[in-house]
Amino acid sequence: MFISLKTKLNLRGMGFLSKEELLAVIAAEVIACRKCELWKTRKNAVPGEGSAESQVMFIGEAPGYWEDVKGKPFVGAAGKFLDTLIAEIGFSRETVFIGNVLKCRPPGNREPLPNEVETCTPYLDSQIQVIQPKFIVTLGNYSTAYIFSKVRLPFNGITQAHGKSHETSISDMRVTIFPTFHPAASLYSAKYGERLVRDFRTLKHELAQKGLI
Ligand code: URA
Ligand code: SF4
Repeated sequence: MFISLKTKLNLRGMGFLSKEELLAVIAAEVIACRKCELWKTRKNAVPGEGSAESQVMFIGEAPGYWEDVKGKPFVGAAGKFLDTLIAEIGFSRETVFIGNVLKCRPPGNREPLPNEVETCTPYLDSQIQVIQPKFIVTLGNYSTAYIFSKVRLPFNGITQAHGKSHETSISDMRVTIFPTFHPAASLYSAKYGERLVRDFRTLKHELAQKGLI
């Protein structure tokens, strides 16, 4: 019998499935997904990974070359920098959750298309619903635009939005959205690396204020 993801999320509500089990269900659906054209060119889908109990979720744009090869998020050069930023705030890859707006790599790392974002984001929405993070850190324009539109915040680009948090709700769940630059930006210009370091200091301060670190 086919049981939909929605039914399984309800089973979670009734206490039959753990958060970890539900994340595994979502990951299995992503790995088998053929809902948009990107399945044709991917080597591996990248569902995202980390702790089901994490208080902080990091959301990037889409898998790049190495993420596609390995099936894991942020394992290339940008990922190394993200690891150091996460360590700076007292967490590790294992204690947070790291995901992306798109779960499969756009060919040649081109930008996500609106229909791909629309088709794929129910997976991200389900992950947010399962994890119920206290903070969502959006990395770069795409994930910030998506999460801001979800909570009806106006978005005028990451340069304006970065480093300023917003306390809001996603379907009855209180959450703080914290936008910052994409760590890959630091590979093109040192200025973005410095801004990311500063934003993560602000983030650390806010996490401490809320008793999360
Ligand atoms: N860039 C992203 O947005 N996500 C990854 O997983 C890797 C690079
Ligand atoms: Fe499915 Fe998302 Fe991959 Fe498209 S990008 S095939 S919607 S998992």
